[in-house]
Amino acid sequence: MERSARGGVLVLGGGFAGGYVAKLLGRHGATVVSPESFMLYTPLLPEAASGTLEPRHVVVPLRVMCRHAEVVLGRAAAHDVEGRRVEIHAGEDVHWLAYEHLVVALGAVVRTLPIPGLARYGLGFKSLSDAIHLRNHVLRRLEAAAAAADEARRRRELTFVFVGAGYAGVEALAELSDLVRDALRYYPTLRHERQHWVLVDAAPKILSEIPARLGEYAAAQLARRGVDIRVATTLEEVGEQAVRLSDGDVLPTSTLVWTAGVRPSPLLAELGLPVDERGLVPVDETLRVDGLERVWALGDCARVPNRATPEHPDPPTCQHALRQARRLAKNIRGEARPYRYRMLGQVATLGRHRGIADVLGLRVRGFPGWFVTRSYHLYQLPLLSRKLRVVADWTVALFFKRDIVELGSLGERRPLGDG
Ligand SMILES: Cc1cc2nc3c(=O)[nH]c(=O)nc-3n(C[C@H](O)[C@H](O)[C@H](O)COP(=O)(O)OP(=O)(O)OC[C@H]3O[C@@H](n4cnc5c(N)ncnc54)[C@H](O)[C@@H]3O)c2cc1C
Repeated sequence: MERSARGGVLVLGGGFAGGYVAKLLGRHGATVVSPESFMLYTPLLPEAASGTLEPRHVVVPLRVMCRHAEVVLGRAAAHDVEGRRVEIHAGEDVHWLAYEHLVVALGAVVRTLPIPGLARYGLGFKSLSDAIHLRNHVLRRLEAAAAAADEARRRRELTFVFVGAGYAGVEALAELSDLVRDALRYYPTLRHERQHWVLVDAAPKILSEIPARLGEYAAAQLARRGVDIRVATTLEEVGEQAVRLSDGDVLPTSTLVWTAGVRPSPLLAELGLPVDERGLVPVDETLRVDGLERVWALGDCARVPNRATPEHPDPPTCQHALRQARRLAKNIRGEARPYRYRMLGQVATLGRHRGIADVLGLRVRGFPGWFVTRSYHLYQLPLLSRKLRVVADWTVALFFKRDIVELGSLGERRPLGDG
């Protein structure tokens, strides 16, 4: 079966880049193909993992966000470049969608390394289900520690190792250590047990993408609360009950979280798109894919030149994906103009009302940094209803103790008649 994309525009991927292109095309219309029905606001994922925010509040339903677009829940599987159509797998259905303009916004996948045991035992932190899984996993460790008969087992369950000290790793560790600290109040037998949080990175410092002084502040904050920071160190091996690091240490643990970077979707080459040595789709400054007319790419899957920073292409961030989407929506509707965007700044939270922000040259840290970070995310989050829900969650968190319920088994189907 074959049909045409709405308005002639087919958008592959409903993440930051694809979701915003479809939204900004407005009444022009588009068909968005996405395996999920929502756009995930990734900067708030650590707070969803720690339970400060309700997980549903950090996602935006695509059908609400992109009112005039058709949303197809499925995956792009093949591309007929000559025939200008893409094969879509949607549940049991397989069909072709013809396009006049194709927007490739397939994002990135977790970048793993051939480290023994990593694929089997490592936990990812990229999707909403990763965040929910990690929260449940961490809370289960507390139950296991409380039930443990010996000290060594308790210590193992209360050791949490994060590999990758970029934004995702630092924020996830900070938020989850807050969750554990709060939850331990309800475990009288564990109250005096030492938690061991370890942050490992191959680089010589953490958060190497932000100005040095803010990075040093973040490292000092984490160290002050007992986080064991191991820079210039790599993960060598992962087992069910321990990890081995390049500094020779073997750490007994049941938790290894891998946040050491992403790589462009491997599907790009399979779709017949050109890719560079890093797997990114090269585009010109109007975001048009090199050598393909009316095919565009943006976001984490593309190498996007930026007129404002001619010395390097855009980094993979939400704010760049959003600005690229704004330019691309205009380029599809009218005359194609070059993309140009100067970064406003960078922000990150460090848990416990602490954060760092470098916005428009203004560098703030501690409580003001945390406040600026939250305000920025609130401003960026699409839909008023989502903003209000997030504000409500934050307000509740100010006055009430954290919810430590673990609902890991509830999403699974129970056999009929099983109680
Ligand atoms: C934990 C975490 C925290 C982050 N924090 C920040 C932050 O604080 N600030 C910041 O600026 N950036 C942050 N980022 C980076 C930011 O999320 C990305 O740069 C941004 O999401 C890129 O948008 P994208 O649309 O290119 O990719 P994505 O948002 O990943 O979207 C890609 C989409 O393609 C879909 N897809 C995949 N395969 C198919 C297929 N076969 N067919 C159709 N669709 C498909 C995916 O389901 C997904 O919806 C963070 C990332 C992570 C993982």
